[in-house]
Amino acid sequence: MERDVILREVGLRDGLQLVKEMFPTDAKKRWISEEVAAGMSEIEVCSFVPPHVVPQFQDHEEVVRHAKSLSDLTVSALVPNAKGAERGFMLGVDKLNFVVSASETHNQKNVKCSTEDSLVRFEQIMEVRASNPDYAKTEVCSGVSTALGCTLEGEIDPKRALWLMGELVKRGATEIGIADTVGYANPGQVKALFIDAIAEFGADRVVAHFHDTRGLGLANSLAAYEAGCRKFDASLAGLGGCPFAPMATGNVVMDDLVFMFEAMGVRTGIDLDRLLSIREVLRENLPADEPLHGMISKAGPPKGFRPASQPLAAE
Ligand code: ZN
Repeated sequence: MERDVILREVGLRDGLQLVKEMFPTDAKKRWISEEVAAGMSEIEVCSFVPPHVVPQFQDHEEVVRHAKSLSDLTVSALVPNAKGAERGFMLGVDKLNFVVSASETHNQKNVKCSTEDSLVRFEQIMEVRASNPDYAKTEVCSGVSTALGCTLEGEIDPKRALWLMGELVKRGATEIGIADTVGYANPGQVKALFIDAIAEFGADRVVAHFHDTRGLGLANSLAAYEAGCRKFDASLAGLGGCPFAPMATGNVVMDDLVFMFEAMGVRTGIDLDRLLSIREVLRENLPADEPLHGMISKAGPPKGFRPASQPLAAE
């Protein structure tokens, strides 16, 4: 399947991490399988955090093994430290994502250390990777959270975000996510930062990770695309809240993002109808008060809509 952009599903990690009730393991596996069948090529399936910190990911081993059994899927997972990374290396996860905040205050609050110490933790992950030749098949990446604004510090100097990205690349990160963790960004700001980031690090390395907290998720995604970005995170039905804004919406809605790109003639490789049908897995298994977001699921595609991606061959 030819793709002009690579979309990564992050709902199983970013979305579920705030859902208190355990999302059934079988439903997670179904969500993953059905998205792969719809054409999704990359899924962040869990976070390697201790079960007492986030019980939602206690089934990570079974979920990762299932995801790894599917062909044509890049399996990624979030890791907070070298210990979590080692679990990921041992399970043969394709891509591990470390997180560090551009906001010093947010980093302290989120992971209880300075950003400089977070860079040391990243180095420790790379040391673990180097300790075993089997681990070399796993890529190590990082997200820079609060790169476009912070609930604690407010505005973040774009130079600081770029500096942090550079430090991570120097230490071996193959991809860097620019994350608008709290949904503060606007398209003008996004475009400017992505132009600079792509000029410095190349389009292959830069990933857009936006939240729709203030309704600008799609607009920001488009701004990043226009700046040359070709890799985007989103979640089915926009699952995922924000711990700092309890009523807020979550990640960019994957279904709407697929519609936007396909309608523009940009191939995602994802079959929109099949993708939309997977919302049912969420509806059946999420707590009743967990909202499902998205517009295309409500309105349906416009008359005569022709997706840019060829529909998958009938089975
Ligand atoms: Zn996020």
